Amino acid sequence: EITSSLPEQTRVITVSNQKGGVGKTTTTVNLASALARRGANVLVIDLDPQGNASTALGVMHRPEVTSVYEVLLGDSGIEDAIQPTTDHERLFCVPSTINLAGAEIELVSLVAREQRLRTALEQYLREAEHHFHYVFIDCPPSLGLLTVNAFVAAREVLIPIQCEYYALEGLSQLLGNIRLIQKHLNPELVVSTILLTMYDSRTNLANEVAEEVRSHFPSEVMEAVIPRSVRISEAPSYGQTVHAYDRASIGALAYLEAAAELAERSKPLIHEGA
Ligand code: ADP
Ligand code: MG
Repeated sequence: EITSSLPEQTRVITVSNQKGGVGKTTTTVNLASALARRGANVLVIDLDPQGNASTALGVMHRPEVTSVYEVLLGDSGIEDAIQPTTDHERLFCVPSTINLAGAEIELVSLVAREQRLRTALEQYLREAEHHFHYVFIDCPPSLGLLTVNAFVAAREVLIPIQCEYYALEGLSQLLGNIRLIQKHLNPELVVSTILLTMYDSRTNLANEVAEEVRSHFPSEVMEAVIPRSVRISEAPSYGQTVHAYDRASIGALAYLEAAAELAERSKPLIHEGA
């Protein structure tokens, strides 16, 4: 079990759902960007070997770049891997590279294999010249050691849920794993936030899914909902967040709303677990 602690004033949020394509990366980068635009200092840690968050933030992630891979193996600190983003002066990123694909296996034989990100993050946040208000960790679509490292490093979990068929499929497995982490590795971890994504208000299905999720998780589901929007899906191919790409689009406004709500709503939850 962890014995040290994260700085009290930094919210460390893992964005996780073992289903692929539900909007984890999109939510990570656009929420992070929205919070930076509201005046917060924000760090995104890309923990998916695909590197989609790094791409969307316009951050270099060729294999030779120092990345979260070297951080996990203990060869570098976060201060060596962190990069500014072109998106916003308050928004920073620790990129992932394709090297991270091998990390699930390489980590197995290392000591404290579940706590490597936590240790590196605590050390960095203690010594960093910036005070970070938020750290977001973008997870790969699996429940392996990379995701375990993300759960151990965070205080909060944010689960994006796609408003489509089988939205709740796999959710009990995810929550079960989070319970195991709480019990054995990180007692202060809280599922603080659920965000409904790719919502299409014209379909009955989206409304039914939204209602069902809200009835199961009345206090976790955010009021703000992210609509399905072409601008949101186009932005990453320009290496941009939706805020840089089209700041007046409904997708950008929805993520700004979600950011305002996130900033407000889960403050009490943090102290509950701490
Ligand atoms: P994950 O990280 O969970 O695998 P992504 O964030 O990469 O999911 O999203 C999967 C795909 O859906 C991407 O092509 C992304 O651009 C698209 N997408 C995500 N959110 C939206 C949205 N609100 N509207 C339209 N497309 C979206
Ligand atoms: Mg992703």
